[in-house]
Amino acid sequence: MAKPNGSRCNLDCAYCFYLSKETLPGGPGAADMERDLLERFIAQYIEGVTGPEVVFSWQGGEPTLRGLDFFHDVVALQRKYAKPGQRIENDLQTNTT
Ligand code: SF4
Repeated sequence: MAKPNGSRCNLDCAYCFYLSKETLPGGPGAADMERDLLERFIAQYIEGVTGPEVVFSWQGGEPTLRGLDFFHDVVALQRKYAKPGQRIENDLQTNTT
């Protein structure tokens, strides 16, 4: 599971337990995952899977705030690092707004 924009969200639900993570001491804050970290994450995650299927789960906050270009990069990097015959899947938790 990856949170490519930390706890950042476009909503402010009263029951949210993600938003407060922005202020955790020593935590990642609200910063976006940078391109070089994204590439290392994808490469290492795929490397660590020995089976034929690799599942990435994107969460937040609201991961779609990263926009389509970010997810185009994700798919391109997954294609770059996939082992022969591996199937890569992506799932996304979104608030749908
Ligand atoms: S949509 Fe989810 S992440 Fe966003 S504020 Fe509400 S509970 Fe938190």
